[in-house]
Amino acid sequence: MNRLKNIIGALILSAAIPSAFAADDSGARYIFYFIGDGMGMGPVMAAQNYNRAVLGNSAPLTMMQLPVAAWCQTFSYSSPVTDSAAAGTALATGSKTRNGMLGMAPDSTSVTSIAAELHDRGYGIGLVTSVAADDATPGAFYAHVPYRKMSYEIDCQGVESGYEYIAGASYGGFTDKEGRPTDLQQRIDDAGISVLYGASSLGEHPTRRVMLFGDETARPWNVSYTIDSVAGALTLPAMTADCLAHLEKYSPERFFMMVEGGNIDHALHANDGGAAIKEILNFDQALALAYDFYLRHPDETLIVVTADHDTGGLALGTNFLGYNNKLELYDHQRVSKEAFSDYCKSVLNSRRIYTWDDMKEYLADNLGLFGPLEVAPEREQQLKDMFDLTFEQRNSHDQNTLYANFNQFAVEVFRTLNDMAGVGFTTTHHSGNPVPVFAAGPGADLFKGFNNNSELPGKILRSAR
Ligand SMILES: [Zn+2]
Repeated sequence: MNRLKNIIGALILSAAIPSAFAADDSGARYIFYFIGDGMGMGPVMAAQNYNRAVLGNSAPLTMMQLPVAAWCQTFSYSSPVTDSAAAGTALATGSKTRNGMLGMAPDSTSVTSIAAELHDRGYGIGLVTSVAADDATPGAFYAHVPYRKMSYEIDCQGVESGYEYIAGASYGGFTDKEGRPTDLQQRIDDAGISVLYGASSLGEHPTRRVMLFGDETARPWNVSYTIDSVAGALTLPAMTADCLAHLEKYSPERFFMMVEGGNIDHALHANDGGAAIKEILNFDQALALAYDFYLRHPDETLIVVTADHDTGGLALGTNFLGYNNKLELYDHQRVSKEAFSDYCKSVLNSRRIYTWDDMKEYLADNLGLFGPLEVAPEREQQLKDMFDLTFEQRNSHDQNTLYANFNQFAVEVFRTLNDMAGVGFTTTHHSGNPVPVFAAGPGADLFKGFNNNSELPGKILRSAR
């Protein structure tokens, strides 16, 4: 059945993607596909301005140093605002599809990803993400399911993919909805895949096929945020370096790596400007590893950097501050909105006596507010009112986004912080804004112009040897 699906997929792929492969020795044999999930140009410019004006780095972000810079539009088959499943499918297979569908055309036929195509041609394949390894973006490179949340089915297809290296926070299919173990571990064992956990197993490459997941420092949906600096946690640059070492060991002649900055999207869904900036800088550090590799093998290495869509509609400049952006405020932020929300919930659950002064002390230490950052009296009153409602009256209307549920006081605090920094958001979902494309290496010129997301995988294949 799966073979049939692959054949059908290949037929559709050949219709969707121009098949003019570079058959000679002139194309790329090392391919890096970096996808910043949710990383529209607004968040990139926020990170670059922070990098330049706050960190004082005169060199721009690595992605901005690549010789080709272009645009990409991201609409899905079903909406001008795509979700990550439809966007991942377009970026991986060249087929636009309906929001929610993964690795399938709108009529539910399977479509083949460039990773599968290149694997068939002898490339080693590595997929790395800072979120779950069966989330939409990595999943689009090996799975075919009508609904992106079908973790067990996606995970089984990850096992069947034959790919050399799959790394992320977790796989969700080890247990079913009732929490009973599934046969996923058995399938992984039967396929000869080594499953490794946590940063302590970085550097181990015991078998040709490896899956690397987070240990107890991770959440199921991400390896932890860069801004939370969780001791011993996996990071995107560390996983990227490990994947590269693995592929250089087992597939030194040719390989394809997809690296997803998945936490960029989670931070933007949370409207957490500081966390998003730190995730983009982290993603750019992972990219720098590929860029170093490219500088050593410039005629054989293609790097393509893009995003699956914009999240949050982030823009620098709001009516609160006009032209006075204050990105340096984020320098005082030590916790993500997710971690702060968890802290608020734990305070509520503990039932201990917790006063406004206690909270102000926490905010000063972890977010700068009421410490190095002065808070205007009317702002303090707003925060105090929300504190009273949440912690004294215990009347909480939490905010739900795609990945998290936020305590309402945490929402108010981060709204205040973004206002004071001059960073605006239009949504806690995705936006239809275009996203950047950066490229270097053989075939990079193909990416010039205003791309459609479904064109990118075909251009990568045309650049491959
Ligand atoms: Zn998203």
